[in-house]
Amino acid sequence: MGLLGVLVLLGALALGPSFGWAQPASPETQGGIPKEEMEKAWFAHREILEKGDWERSRAELEKVYQWKLDQGIRNHYSYALALIRESERAAKREIGVAASELLLYAERMAPDFSEVKRARAAWLGSHAFDSFGNAAQSVWSWFQGFFLSFANPDEAIPRLANLTFWLLLSFFLTFAAFSFSCFLRHYSFFNHHLRHLVGLRISPVPMMFLSFLLLLSPLFLDLGWMWLFALWTLAFWTYGRWTDRVVTLVLVGLLLLLPAGVRFHASLVHSLTGKGVPEILRANYGAWDEELYQKLLSMNREKPEDADVLMALGLVEKRMGKYAAAEQRFSLGARLPPKGLALHNLGNVFLATNRLEMAMEAYQEAARLDPSRPETYYNLGQANLLKLRMKEAEAEFQRAKGLEPAKISYHTGIASKNPNRLVMDRTLDPGRVWERVLVPSAESDRIARSFWELLWKGIPLDHGEMGMAALLGLLGLVHLGSRRIPVIRHCERCGTLICPLCNPLRGAGIQCLPCQNAFTANPAADLEVVRKKRGEVARYQTRVHLLPQRISWILPGMGHLMRGRSLEGIVYLFVLTLMATRFVWWEGWVPLPLSPAASRSVSGLVMAGLLFLLFYGFVQYRMECIRLQEVKSHFQRT
Ligand SMILES: [Zn+2]
Ligand SMILES: [Zn+2]
Repeated sequence: MGLLGVLVLLGALALGPSFGWAQPASPETQGGIPKEEMEKAWFAHREILEKGDWERSRAELEKVYQWKLDQGIRNHYSYALALIRESERAAKREIGVAASELLLYAERMAPDFSEVKRARAAWLGSHAFDSFGNAAQSVWSWFQGFFLSFANPDEAIPRLANLTFWLLLSFFLTFAAFSFSCFLRHYSFFNHHLRHLVGLRISPVPMMFLSFLLLLSPLFLDLGWMWLFALWTLAFWTYGRWTDRVVTLVLVGLLLLLPAGVRFHASLVHSLTGKGVPEILRANYGAWDEELYQKLLSMNREKPEDADVLMALGLVEKRMGKYAAAEQRFSLGARLPPKGLALHNLGNVFLATNRLEMAMEAYQEAARLDPSRPETYYNLGQANLLKLRMKEAEAEFQRAKGLEPAKISYHTGIASKNPNRLVMDRTLDPGRVWERVLVPSAESDRIARSFWELLWKGIPLDHGEMGMAALLGLLGLVHLGSRRIPVIRHCERCGTLICPLCNPLRGAGIQCLPCQNAFTANPAADLEVVRKKRGEVARYQTRVHLLPQRISWILPGMGHLMRGRSLEGIVYLFVLTLMATRFVWWEGWVPLPLSPAASRSVSGLVMAGLLFLLFYGFVQYRMECIRLQEVKSHFQRT
């Protein structure tokens, strides 16, 4: 550990003459390379790269990279994306060195960017044949990219908004398909029961009309769609097998999560543009500019007590060299939570304006408030170094390094006399960003309610959970109430309705009497009647077996539901709706501004197509298995 500390110190000292000055730069020089010069360097880099001279091109690119560091920017996504494209082009032109080094620069331009990791994975993958190490690293990079795409809030918010919408829509469609399959299978039982309930001898057509009126009532009452499907699952609960009941219970149980899901989705959607989230994220981690500064200023004027905006504003001002203004923001912020963050950054402003003692006091106070932040110890180390107190400086660096070694060595590597690189700024904690995203606002409530109304009009979203719990309770009551109802079923051979109420003598057997007569060895049976019955059975059996199979060709999984294999069928249906909705919204429900290439990739489409074919084939195979298992038994004598 001691050796490590010396190394850190040496690393810091190796930055050379900058520390010999023992004074940070003045605000006038703090920008480092002016923006115009940086832009010139960027164009020069591209031009020279076109000509294939990577060495000279890299020298220009290095200037751009140094400018990014001087500005205190962590992620410059547009440069990273441009560099990824350049790397792809270089690989095509077979300038291998340039291709890999351009990717390294892309990573330096935006270390938190998932696309960079993915590009690296693709590059390593194309060299996977060279060594096993490359293949393993490629896979590792891909996983890093996957992790970052949900950890980096800039990318995670639109991605999660898409993901939640995808899941909600697929759940809704699966629920709808399941209740529709209940309708198809059990409608005749319901219709028959209704006849007993009404107690009148009504002819079949008005009876059918009445039952349709009842079953479609949510549509006539202009309620949401979920009312309709929930009504069907309740109405047909009695007739289902135990597997149907398990599926119904799971689906209705999942409804309890629906209000939270809708609210979560709405707050994500709103955070894409509102609540100041994009601005705060950019000020903290991204490339800032004058326009962003003006936006933050107006947000601050609207809501002066918003500590997150205040801190973001202070950070941008400090980076712009507006130290007096930044000092004011951070002093103000030191009175609001999170105090430690404001004090730490206030220390940075003091340090940038040559008030070392005050800076150290601020850091010490910040370290007392948040003892686990490595940035504060690192900055204390730098301040000590400026005062040429080597021993104290090393102790602080050691402490910082012990907390987060990777972060500290990164900053030691890029440190210079520029105030944006000499010390570390403390940015907003990811937890606080998420808190801001998830906290409800008037606008996110409006989005959530309009979404909810489509599903459950009549139940206010605020009482969504209670409404869903009531539905679950109602299901329990239906179950208790329907226990005494005698079971109606179809004759398993010929499909005739067997109702114990209409014909108590025939009991609740699984075969009707004519079938029992026709399929038992009965010498007294009329051969003509038996022949007719057998024809009837053959026709019914063909229908029962062919229809689910045909339906399964169109809607894989639906056939399983029709054949009473509900647990298996509901899984297939859910997978199908996930695939179908994903295909319809291939580009995503909300666009992913940072990953324009990923959504349009041909290889992704081909992979998805192959996966679908695999899935489709498997479901048809399972359907065929069921047919082969069940088709034989119905012509055998009992
Ligand atoms: Zn029968
Ligand atoms: Zn009956």
